[in-house]
Amino acid sequence: NQPVFAIVGRPNVGKSTLFNRLTGSRRSIVGDEPGITRDRIYGEVHWAGKTARLVDTGGIVPDDEALIPSEIYRQAKVALDEAEAVVMVVDGRTELASPDIDLARILLRSGKPIFLAVNKIDTEAMDAAAENFRRLGIKNLQAISAEHGHGIGDLLDEVFAVL
Ligand code: GDP
Ligand code: MG
Repeated sequence: NQPVFAIVGRPNVGKSTLFNRLTGSRRSIVGDEPGITRDRIYGEVHWAGKTARLVDTGGIVPDDEALIPSEIYRQAKVALDEAEAVVMVVDGRTELASPDIDLARILLRSGKPIFLAVNKIDTEAMDAAAENFRRLGIKNLQAISAEHGHGIGDLLDEVFAVL
């Protein structure tokens, strides 16, 4: 059985972009099924000679639902039920927000390996912004740009080391 890891995080932080980069897949394939709301999406990631399954807990849900607080708890439950390791994604261009603190606390309490990907750090000049997110208490922090690929290899090295 392949190991499983999950992506969690608030809307618009870049979960789908990261999922697509890691799996090389096109999200639109899933969207082609009319009337179906999928709250999680699965893909495969190949790295360092290993294969893992990836769950994007953000799935395809209506925008209004994606903003309610219980969405954070749903995502955390899906991730902790299904995955051996969890990558929490935040938007490095925004301030730390209270839903992020709640989500990080739930994930850390599980005792599973938790990784923090501070996304949208598109240039090295922005690396310092990622340090603001140390307050979440997740020791394994990686600045990334899901869009440009920066930091992705280092993130995968860390994640695959525990799978
Ligand atoms: P999700 O709601 O968490 O799945 O976020 P999406 O993957 O849909 O991305 C939300 C927005 O952030 C989109 O406009 C993306 O193009 C943008 N985005 C994602 N990753 C990056 C990144 O690394 N840098 C920048 N500048 N924008 C990004
Ligand atoms: Mg998404």
